[in-house]
Amino acid sequence: MAWFRKKSKFTTIGNTNKKKDLPEGIWRLCDSCEEYITNDEIKRNYHICPRCNYYYVLPVEERIKHTLDEGSFEEFDANLASKNPLDFDGYDQKIRSAQQKTGRYEGIVTGRGEIEGYPVIFGVLDFAFMGGSMGSVVGEKVTRAAERALNDELPLFIVSTGGGGARMHEGMLSLMQMAKTSAAIALLKKHGIPFLSLIAHPTMGGVAASFAALGDVILAEPRALIGFAGPRVIEQTIGQQLPPGFQRSEFLLEKGMIDIIVERPNIRNVIKPLLEHMWYNRYALRAQQRQGNKTAVYAVKGA
Ligand SMILES: [Zn+2]
Repeated sequence: MAWFRKKSKFTTIGNTNKKKDLPEGIWRLCDSCEEYITNDEIKRNYHICPRCNYYYVLPVEERIKHTLDEGSFEEFDANLASKNPLDFDGYDQKIRSAQQKTGRYEGIVTGRGEIEGYPVIFGVLDFAFMGGSMGSVVGEKVTRAAERALNDELPLFIVSTGGGGARMHEGMLSLMQMAKTSAAIALLKKHGIPFLSLIAHPTMGGVAASFAALGDVILAEPRALIGFAGPRVIEQTIGQQLPPGFQRSEFLLEKGMIDIIVERPNIRNVIKPLLEHMWYNRYALRAQQRQGNKTAVYAVKGA
């Protein structure tokens, strides 16, 4: 993690002139405002800097904890792991070290959980696993989650933090996940099952250009960088300077690419009425009747 590599900066504290070694892992300099903050403070504050409101990547476990009802999450397909289909040099090693670092087999966690008592099929990309990039397994798990949502007639909610885009080590197999996940989402739309997409910083390339951009409602965290090619590449290609705030959530909201910017601590308060409006107050009762005793055991609130 970035702050461990910045050890050399941890020599003075606040306004004191006295140089002081700080215990590693307790204090850090904010990446944005460069004020001293404790890791505990950040963690308690949803991984947002309490000084400047900078949004750090929220670890997967905490995303699940802050989004879903406590203890409601049941994971799917936790054991799916990538192979190295192209024998790409060093890819096996990269996967192994990402697995060791994150304690999971691949760069996404999917499952079923509840938000304020409403069941959803939930997925969250893991930025710590090769930058949240989409290889075959990530694409497959997104597709399976969409298929599960379709089969169980439950809304799908995916949180993307995919700064790595499509995973180049798998070549075309990785790129085809863009089409595959998009087709799975299209099936949901055809059957009227809601798909909510929350995009967090940073989400680029193949993730941004496929399922993440296909939500019936597209939510984004403040100041998240969201786009296909990065701003530097675009600037070099078109030979022009880009406008301020280009590819940030606020810019994309203004241009109509996203629908809502939501502060991280507020996510459940925003998702709940969306679930009610799009599904639970309108169609869920009929879905529940269709499902019979198969899976549906949820209460239909307000119906
Ligand atoms: Zn800060």
